[in-house]
Amino acid sequence: MKTLEKEPRSSALERFDFDRIEFGKQPTDHIFIAEFRDGTWQDPRIEKFQPFTLSPLALCLHYGQTVFEGMKAFRQQDGRIQIFRMEKHFNRFNKSLDRLCMPLVDRDLFYNALESLVRIDQDWLPDKDGISLYIRPFVIATEPRLGVKISDEYIFAVVCTPMSSYFDKPVKVKVETRYTRAAPGGTGYAKCGGNYGAAFYPTQKAREEGYDQVIWTDAKTHTYLEEAGMMNIMLIRSNKLITPLAGDSILDGVTRDSLLHIARDQGMEVEERPISITEIAEAFSAREQIEIFGCGTAAVISPIRSIGIEGVEYFPYHEPDARMFRLSRELDGIRKGAIADKFGWCHFV
Ligand SMILES: *Cc1c(COP(=O)(O)O)cnc(C)c1O
Repeated sequence: MKTLEKEPRSSALERFDFDRIEFGKQPTDHIFIAEFRDGTWQDPRIEKFQPFTLSPLALCLHYGQTVFEGMKAFRQQDGRIQIFRMEKHFNRFNKSLDRLCMPLVDRDLFYNALESLVRIDQDWLPDKDGISLYIRPFVIATEPRLGVKISDEYIFAVVCTPMSSYFDKPVKVKVETRYTRAAPGGTGYAKCGGNYGAAFYPTQKAREEGYDQVIWTDAKTHTYLEEAGMMNIMLIRSNKLITPLAGDSILDGVTRDSLLHIARDQGMEVEERPISITEIAEAFSAREQIEIFGCGTAAVISPIRSIGIEGVEYFPYHEPDARMFRLSRELDGIRKGAIADKFGWCHFV
């Protein structure tokens, strides 16, 4: 693969304020690009970050063939850099690509792309508390053609942006019983752009009613919890971590999977099963202490302070001694190298 020599510290980096990061606004200096033509991925390269040109007829602009991943790299205390759970993200990327009839990316291409980009832009990941490097691999259909068809040409690109571990204020959520994010047989398990576009409207409606976010329920009956916005949803009742099974309409989150492993390791019981609205309402009515939170790569966990179920507000536990914070601290410790990586999740570059 053609790659550029590492240049002197860029002026964008010189000007960048790591104490005031607005997520996703500042790309690092480089981008990885490969193109799919004549049935194969070609010409993988690292370039200076810059806009790319696309025909206005490019299929991705019209019919939604776009797929992405959201990953993170961390600088550990000894200075080494690791990309977290590379293999699991790689596999999910290909699952999403397959669902959208897009060409798979082979392991070498994916690993080389991320490793070389993170290496060349490693100054964007300083040894500073709470800073990580968010990595966004994506594939878009680029064939210029207005006829509805599966594209024969694609771009696979990877960009990065520095990120600070913000502590999300506990959120007020509404259980959505009208609109649907994903249905059985649909694309809910794929990380594709269309899922996000379709979720904006119901989320915006909920915001107008004073909520921060919606909790999605199953498409058929709207009585079982599925996801928390664009995060997976989890409950803690007594010493039990409960989350819906990842399936057709629920994304197989990497953070979800990591927290399940850590919980088992901490001696918690783990249940992957349907969670009904009634179960939650009844537990609150019985004055049970329940923790409810979303989990995902960007924020790790997002505690819920208030959950509206058919017009009634319930208040999950989210004090600093809540179990969910113990789980997220452990996950953070592993990523930063403060806690031994017993599961083999860190991929050093
Ligand atoms: C990305 C995503 C998640 C979280 O997955 P992670 O791998 O933990 O980041 C959950 N739900 C949806 C719909 C997502 O797009």
